[in-house]
Amino acid sequence: MKFLSILSAGIMCLSVIACNKPGTASEAKLSPEAEQVKLLSEAYAPTKITADMSHLSEREKALVLKLVEAAKLCDAIFWKQSSHDGIAVRDSLAKLNTPDAKAMLEYVNINYGPYDILNENKRFVGTGSEKKYDGAAYYPLDMTKQEFEDYIKANPSEKAALESQYTVVVRENGKLKAIPFNQFYPEVKQLADKLDEAAELADNPTLKNYLKLRAKAIRTDDYYESDMAWMDIKDNNIDVVIGPIENYEDALYNYKTAHEAVVMVKDIEASKELDMFKAHIPEFQLRLPIDKKFIDPVKTENEILQIVNVVYFAGDCQSGTKTIAAALPNDPKVHETKGGKKSMYKNMMEAKFDKIVKPIGDIILTTDIRKYTDKKAFTSFVTLHEVSHTLGRGFVFGSKELTVRKALKERYSAIEETKADILSMYNHKHLLEMGKVSPEYIKQSIATYIAGLYRSLRFGTNSAHGQANLIQLNFLRNSGAIIRNAEGTFTWDDKIFFDKVAELANLILTCQANGNYDEAGKIIEKYGKVNDEITQTVNKLKSIPRDINTSYAY
Ligand SMILES: [Zn+2]
Repeated sequence: MKFLSILSAGIMCLSVIACNKPGTASEAKLSPEAEQVKLLSEAYAPTKITADMSHLSEREKALVLKLVEAAKLCDAIFWKQSSHDGIAVRDSLAKLNTPDAKAMLEYVNINYGPYDILNENKRFVGTGSEKKYDGAAYYPLDMTKQEFEDYIKANPSEKAALESQYTVVVRENGKLKAIPFNQFYPEVKQLADKLDEAAELADNPTLKNYLKLRAKAIRTDDYYESDMAWMDIKDNNIDVVIGPIENYEDALYNYKTAHEAVVMVKDIEASKELDMFKAHIPEFQLRLPIDKKFIDPVKTENEILQIVNVVYFAGDCQSGTKTIAAALPNDPKVHETKGGKKSMYKNMMEAKFDKIVKPIGDIILTTDIRKYTDKKAFTSFVTLHEVSHTLGRGFVFGSKELTVRKALKERYSAIEETKADILSMYNHKHLLEMGKVSPEYIKQSIATYIAGLYRSLRFGTNSAHGQANLIQLNFLRNSGAIIRNAEGTFTWDDKIFFDKVAELANLILTCQANGNYDEAGKIIEKYGKVNDEITQTVNKLKSIPRDINTSYAY
């Protein structure tokens, strides 16, 4: 049944494309529809990603290649999860091989299907529902929430299986039925075998143990033990996130997980810098620009931070916008005992600097400071942002139970992201005072920071990061720390810049310490807004890609 529906969607899609102005003068000329889709593709700058593997042994390099083979199987599974007809559309376009089909295929590949992730999942090629089905391909295409919930009420014994993170729901003889991933996707067996083969190549015992347990998890859809083992990996050059991980693809319920893989190698030099930052965490905490009564010693022992270079992204994390860091695992039971691991993807950050931050700086900064935008300053800022998430208070002042997250509710994320950014900047000043960085480097950091504000506020007020960047920009503009000249380009006032950074840090940290939900609302209302100046500036950035379309050389 599944096969039939895929086939018919594919045929309709073929006819739509074949009808596009056949026999026009130049073969390379695109139809208006394909031209439109080509423009959409240009929002993603083509980018080749490479990772330095010179510090790996021959066996480690072989292990990396094995993991990439495994990752490709996750890719194949994700195509099946993302939409009901993505593969049919992709394959029919590939077969056509006309200029129109090629333009369409490129965007289909970026989106893992015929729906545009950057434009509210609207259909851009072929026939099918105008918007992507919220349940992706985890449920029957015509299943409503009402049907699902009524069915569960009538059949409570099937509730756990139907709502499981690791099953696909199908309709059989008019009844809903949950099929475990390990039975539904034929790639699962091969994927587990590849991980066993990878384990054979691993000499690090903690990594070997994880890979073996992960293979077992993929076969049984029970991931707990392998997630625990992932947190125990030590002294490793190589790491991998693989399997069904995040649950955003299921927009119907956020129950079902999507397959993805991140194959990564540690970055030795950047890890040294991270260790330097981490060593200063207790000091950073003591020197926070806030009433001393709010300062408790900081606890970080359970959190692992690592800087890696991505060798390969597959599946969910490769579709649409590329992430530059990930905090995992998602299982709260694992978090309780083992904490979490945050991996920062250095070469992904560098690619975004080259393709997005640098070009933004070249447009919005005054000509004399454009030369200061700097790749290293960008990756260090992001690293110090992650470190700064550990600073301040986890619990509201005077309470042992109420977390800041709970107290600030839906306003928490924007406030917390503002905190991490502004403290990253603030801590740069301490590093300067301690002689760890040069005055020249501080200039690079500020220039890169201002260009970076405009990169992230383009994510919009619906995103916590977009809002956090608006808060910083507006605060620093209103207070004169960031200056706009007559041509509409920006620089900063050296004399007051760090004082104003400290003022904003104080405002945010005090709001968090008091768990002040109303104050958080006031800050967001006052500063988290787009004004005419921002709109004018953003309009100048239309030619700059929103993200990157990555391919991998390994
Ligand atoms: Zn953050």
